[in-house]
Amino acid sequence: MSQIQIPDVTLADGVAIPQFGFGVFQVPPAETVASVATALELGYRHIDTAAIYGNEREVGEAIAASGIPREQLFVTTKLWNADQGYDSALSAFELSAGKLGLDVVDLYLIHWPVPSRDRYVESWRALVRLKEDGRIRSIGVSNFQPPHLRRLFDEVGVVPAINQVELHPYLQQAALRAFHAEHEITTEAWSPLAQGLVLDDPALVAIAAAHGKSAAQVVLRWHLQLGNVVFPKSVTPARIAENLELFDFELSADELASIEQLERAERTGFDPDTMDMA
Ligand code: NAD
Repeated sequence: MSQIQIPDVTLADGVAIPQFGFGVFQVPPAETVASVATALELGYRHIDTAAIYGNEREVGEAIAASGIPREQLFVTTKLWNADQGYDSALSAFELSAGKLGLDVVDLYLIHWPVPSRDRYVESWRALVRLKEDGRIRSIGVSNFQPPHLRRLFDEVGVVPAINQVELHPYLQQAALRAFHAEHEITTEAWSPLAQGLVLDDPALVAIAAAHGKSAAQVVLRWHLQLGNVVFPKSVTPARIAENLELFDFELSADELASIEQLERAERTGFDPDTMDMA
């Protein structure tokens, strides 16, 4: 099978991450091995999971069964809110790495800042230690707002390589992306399709028709052209394949400008300032 060449993005710490990957949020454990196996067969090499998704073990099984050399894969998992704190983060990492069957995890993220509990700075110190110990190649955060990021810079002195945030045409995060650029933080876009909400938008449907592509492909291509790292989720093999067909067309400046007009500050997920689920 001909393999699609997925470009890498080089993070500020020098690590290369495939710009396009496969997300497994809400993929039930029983479907995870098959979905990840399909993605890997099609050419995906970057998998985004989290402890709270409950499918790290199945992601690990699919990776092990694939026979793909470890250095060709990029695996992300995340520290859950209940495990924040220095010692608890170290233990939670061991549990996640064990379930994934990996000695070294490519990217480990603090999943949410949970400002009401105020443990993200000590959690960050644990991630810094795990990176120094060679257990994690890159460390980052998810759902952090600029004030949370600034505390990591000021109190720990280590800038996250990545911030993974909700980002799609209805929530474009222009100010946060500018803050990231200023501090050399790579932006990862979660719910890149707004969980399907944007796919009937007439402007996107029209651009898709002009390229002979689907609205999903147009939105994913828009992410790539913005420079975001992106990993849509699907359990449907035809869509897993469709979502990868992004490297044979390009959106024009006018098309990018018309997508920019779709901004409406609409979140599909939790607000990072108040999300405190344990
Ligand atoms: P998404 O925007 O990727 O949407 C997924 C849904 O879109 C699917 O369930 C399917 O219904 C639909 N879809 C996918 N491909 C399609 C296609 N080609 N045509 C039509 N419909 C299609 O949403 P997501 O799963 O929430 O986000 C992707 C990944 O981001 C997750 O799997 C997870 O890895 C990550 N994520 C992270 C956080 C976080 O807090 N860090 C939160 C949510 C998601």
